[in-house]
Amino acid sequence: MIKKEQRYNVRTFKVQLPSGGRYWTVLDSELDVVPAADRYLRELRFGRDRAESTVKSYAGGVVLFLRWCLRTGRDWTTAATEMGLFMTWLKYTPAEDQDVVCGPGATPVRGPKRINRVLVATRGFLTFAVAQGEAPQWVLGVLYELADDRDLPEVARGEDARLAHRLRARHQLHEPETAVDRASDEEVVALFIACRSARDRLIVLLLARAGLRRGEVTGLRRSDLHLLPDSRSLGCEVQGAHLHIVRRENSNGAWAKSRYTRWVPVDFLVVRSIDQYLLERQDCPAAAESDFLLVNLFQQPLGSPVTPDALNELFEILCARAGITRSITPHKCRHAFASNLADSGAALDEIQKLLGHVSPSSSQIYLHPSKDRLRAAVERVPTPRTLIEGVR
Ligand SMILES: [Zn+2]
Repeated sequence: MIKKEQRYNVRTFKVQLPSGGRYWTVLDSELDVVPAADRYLRELRFGRDRAESTVKSYAGGVVLFLRWCLRTGRDWTTAATEMGLFMTWLKYTPAEDQDVVCGPGATPVRGPKRINRVLVATRGFLTFAVAQGEAPQWVLGVLYELADDRDLPEVARGEDARLAHRLRARHQLHEPETAVDRASDEEVVALFIACRSARDRLIVLLLARAGLRRGEVTGLRRSDLHLLPDSRSLGCEVQGAHLHIVRRENSNGAWAKSRYTRWVPVDFLVVRSIDQYLLERQDCPAAAESDFLLVNLFQQPLGSPVTPDALNELFEILCARAGITRSITPHKCRHAFASNLADSGAALDEIQKLLGHVSPSSSQIYLHPSKDRLRAAVERVPTPRTLIEGVR
């Protein structure tokens, strides 16, 4: 006999379109697309140009919401009236259904951060459904409260603050602030030393010294490198060695998260390591054709672009070789770059530009000054002579 849980299930599914576009959708237990969820996820990916990884995360959230509705016999279009129960369910129900009855008192399986992400996806999905006429209008009032904006800073308020309102999500958990999980400088050096090719050393440096994302490193083309002191002959006004980060549809699945093109200055270490890598690459004839910067030189298919997932595998190998017991992902090296920027006194807007964050709030997490930095900041303020003499 088929168990009830198995008959009523939904799951995420990656869709590859003939055009080369990719997005994530939701399938039911008959492997049919769930139309309302599919419309929402397609709108996110292609209408609002959100990254594939973002759409994947939203699809995961929508799946949990629909699964909760199915398991508890609720109609998804009106289930928002009981978001509090959904939140409890999220906290205690494992991802893969087991015959486990979980409830308050058990150890939570999802933390506040994950639950909030699921709620963001759920609200997005339901708001879209309301706009499409698939869910009743009153659902919005259950999800959001109309709040006035008096708790916002002056600059963020409208001219006539008395009349200003905004939508505030009703269901949200408090997230305790956690320190950024960065690779330490010692760990970065250990990974660098554990590399056995110029290509792998370059990968480590692009993450840890230029702060690129995994998808940005693997999406780099040779034409994105402007390494001369002056690039005007290439039609680029940026002075000094730098890289351009451009979003493209790439055959290896690499995807620049930001839709805004940015350039990143690179130091002599990165420039030298690019030189060494390009020499190494010349020995692999299959690589000559590819415009991708990072290609397979040592394993089949030779010359094909390195994939984002291969970077994670590389880091697992490097960690093992270097004897690092905790897991260092490529992203932790980007965190290291950003934290080092902050620690050396970079301003918030500088960190934001270099990392390609759309909002400064994403860069804010790196600004947790150490006690030494606070003291140094005070001591940098010039002291007038009269004051010094006054306290003598
Ligand atoms: Zn340039």
